[in-house]
Amino acid sequence: KAVNFLYTYYSNYNTEASVSGLTGGPLEHSYQLVQFHCHWGKCHSSGSEHMVDGKGFAGELHLVHWNVDLYNSVEEALASSKGVAVIGIFFQIGRHNDELGKITDILHEITQKGEECSLPKKVDPSAFIPESHDYWTYEGSLTTPPCYESVTWILFKRPIEVSEEQIEKFKVLHSSNLKAYVNGEPVVGKVTENCRPVQPLNGRIIREAPY
Ligand SMILES: [Zn+2]
Repeated sequence: KAVNFLYTYYSNYNTEASVSGLTGGPLEHSYQLVQFHCHWGKCHSSGSEHMVDGKGFAGELHLVHWNVDLYNSVEEALASSKGVAVIGIFFQIGRHNDELGKITDILHEITQKGEECSLPKKVDPSAFIPESHDYWTYEGSLTTPPCYESVTWILFKRPIEVSEEQIEKFKVLHSSNLKAYVNGEPVVGKVTENCRPVQPLNGRIIREAPY
């Protein structure tokens, strides 16, 4: 089903307020960025959490926003109708992505669960958005438990390029800081993939913009 949507992404990431957000398009309210994260997989065609005509991508970036008009906290929004708007952007193997590089270049400093570091350079979330703004949208769920049906998904049709080296850098991360030993040697579980398998449509209507 096609609809003609316009939306506005604003990014004040470099100011003291450091607020980015999203309004318009399929959204009836204002949403503010609360976090973003990446999914990746074992090969160039797996790692994304959406597939297009059965085809997967090397990864997927999620910019997670919560509805600041209707709810008082992120927690409340995550569990509520129209509470969350997630922008999904596919990764395709290609050129080095400079904006993502601000993150992938420092991952080796925080390979263990719970470790933290400061970003040397501020990341502009709007810099990830592809030049072509064509997208699909549908009402769906979080892809991690408890998988609440609270998400308006906005999935860009065009992937952005990231280098193979950048995807590999994600795989230095460990899923746990628990120590396990096999034959006396410490074993650490590296996160080689972190994407949820695709789910049935269950009658959801997917709309596209523009048409
Ligand atoms: Zn995600």
